[in-house]
Amino acid sequence: MSIDNLPPLREIIEKYDLAAKKSLGQNFLFDLNLTSKIAKSAGDLNGVTVVEIGPGPGGLTRAILAAGAKRVIGIEKDPRCLAALDEIGAHYPDQLSIISTDALSIDWQALSIESPCRIIANLPYNVGTLLLTHWIGGAHWPPPFDSFVLMFQREVAERIVATPENPHDYGRLGVLCGWRTEAKILFDVPPQAFNPPPKVTSSVVKITARINPLPCDIKTLSKVTQHAFGQRRKMLRQSLKGLGVDPIKLCEDVGLDPTARAETVPVEKFVALANRLDQL
Ligand code: SAM
Repeated sequence: MSIDNLPPLREIIEKYDLAAKKSLGQNFLFDLNLTSKIAKSAGDLNGVTVVEIGPGPGGLTRAILAAGAKRVIGIEKDPRCLAALDEIGAHYPDQLSIISTDALSIDWQALSIESPCRIIANLPYNVGTLLLTHWIGGAHWPPPFDSFVLMFQREVAERIVATPENPHDYGRLGVLCGWRTEAKILFDVPPQAFNPPPKVTSSVVKITARINPLPCDIKTLSKVTQHAFGQRRKMLRQSLKGLGVDPIKLCEDVGLDPTARAETVPVEKFVALANRLDQL
């Protein structure tokens, strides 16, 4: 299979001496069927700007460009990858720009990217959850991106999509994602699909931003879930004590049983708790 006339990934890695660095979470994808499947999971990319975190040697980048993206903005921390990415940029003139920096240092609102814009990434695992909370946990909503197709460790993917039906995985991340987005696991990717293979199975997750999530102050919601899940085995009447109001009244005001535990409380009730807390 060939998606462009560029050299195979293995050749590029050899040419630019891109031995994978564990400290940068470098687990590269070579399989063109898989990279195309990930790119296509983001929907029709014609006319769409895609932000890719960590393009590395450019396997997924090439699949995104071949799938018809109008423009790709790659954010790559490893300067060793820049020459390999330049080669791709030359093949797709004016369609690929690279920002050579740490994705964690970026002010996403200030980036002012043209809409529609989506994020697609085989994320470095050490910063994946932190990046996701930067994108969807900010004060401004909706974000500049309408959807995200992201690779996570399976265990993190399960926490992102969790509801009270999955009490073991349901926590602060599930509430945040359930409130502001619709998230689903699309498919699993086995360790041997990567080079070098990681220790665990990965999953590709699609996260679509809700335009109008239930109205709520993110700071208050975050405070409530921090207390509730900080002592997840305790009943709400105990775990919510630190909020500075009577936790039994707070729960009863929103129709929640104060003896319930955080892992049984659906997203709408956390939102109701936060809104009631702000009124009290
Ligand atoms: N996209 C390539 C692929 O799918 O084969 C590489 C994915 S690899 C899992 C993660 C990439 O993210 C690496 O290229 C790594 O250098 C880069 N990276 C790691 N930490 C980063 C950070 N904080 N900001 C931007 N890029 C980062």
